[in-house]
Amino acid sequence: NAVIGIVGGGQLGRMSAMAAAKLGFRTQILTKDPNSPGAQVSHGVTLGAYDDLQALDAFARTVDVVTFEFENISADAMDCLSQYCPVRPSGHILRISQDRLAEKTFFTDNDIPLAPWHAVTDLSSLHNAAKKLGLPFILKTTRNGYDGKGQRRIHHLDELEDAFHALAPHPLVAEGMVSFACELSVMVVRGVDGTVRCFDPGMNEHRDGILDLTLAPAPVEPSISARAQALAVSIAEKLDLVGILGVEMFLDQSGVLLVNEIAPRPHNSGHWTMDACPVDQFEMHIRAVAGMPLPPTIRHSDAVMKNLIGPDDIALWPQIIAAPTLLPHLYGKEDARPGRKMGHVNMIFPYGSLPGKLGIQDALGPLASPEIAEEEITAP
Ligand code: ATP
Ligand code: MG
Ligand code: MG
Repeated sequence: NAVIGIVGGGQLGRMSAMAAAKLGFRTQILTKDPNSPGAQVSHGVTLGAYDDLQALDAFARTVDVVTFEFENISADAMDCLSQYCPVRPSGHILRISQDRLAEKTFFTDNDIPLAPWHAVTDLSSLHNAAKKLGLPFILKTTRNGYDGKGQRRIHHLDELEDAFHALAPHPLVAEGMVSFACELSVMVVRGVDGTVRCFDPGMNEHRDGILDLTLAPAPVEPSISARAQALAVSIAEKLDLVGILGVEMFLDQSGVLLVNEIAPRPHNSGHWTMDACPVDQFEMHIRAVAGMPLPPTIRHSDAVMKNLIGPDDIALWPQIIAAPTLLPHLYGKEDARPGRKMGHVNMIFPYGSLPGKLGIQDALGPLASPEIAEEEITAP
């Protein structure tokens, strides 16, 4: 009975641990919080911070393989752990994905298409970047950003100085604004034997910087889906990935795909697979991490995933569980702070019958956004 060590106790660790249990593995979660979503469902818990070497040592002694559900951990510590057991995905992938500068350099060096970008180390390099990119553009921290935190949209040159000082730590990355038709993401998994599997691309819609909806399959031309998958596969191969990786992309107005960022872990935009695929992203990930063979990524249904964000969405919980069209997944978090991901719901539709915007709002029942339906009706 192999033990899978998971660094991080969030919802991604929780759902990974549940998938591991299904396959007969035990899990050991490293987390500071004994009541974290992951700790609640794991067989074992090592209490400690991710940078606490003593905790990491104790954790490593109890596990056969290590994975992580959270990227803001020390890649050096993961390299260190890899002397005791396999770390999947490996520290070098973490090192690339947790730093936008390393990530964009990796894409550029490997001919992966991306928006124009410039490293910003000081005010003069920021002015140069603004000159080259034109306005508006986006200034982002290289580390620790998530849910759109750690970035500023620059519309006027007189905003440069404030934005530079507001975003820390430096260096930063300046990125050209993509006027995208939509955002797509692809979950790609690679096994120890080099087998690569790829789920259908999903289309993502954000609200206040946080993922709101994922539609799967992404309602785009089959040729675009195929290109998105090919891009994700080539990234997985170039990284020598073992485990799962989420690849976020923009589809621009002229049909070009630009990669935004990658995350070497299960991804919020892959949660639809939990109810639309016999083997979901978490089971695929655990299979890859455990060195098991990877079954094909079959999708038997179309799906829409909606995040339940605190506090408003979760206040509707009684109505959500009473709605027959909503398949809820709850993360066991007590404090429904504003903007906190408390859970998600999936809606399943027969294969090939993903509804349009209005149909989705209709199926969302208690979670429908009236303003979206309104916008659709009043559109010319
Ligand atoms: P995540 O929670 O996905 O990790 P993040 O904080 O790392 O988010 P990004 O994914 O880089 O940030 O950006 C968040 C969102 O902001 C994107 O999903 C997209 O909607 C928008 N965005 C980011 N970069 C650009 C860009 N260059 N052009 C247009 N929109 C962008
Ligand atoms: Mg990100
Ligand atoms: Mg993102």
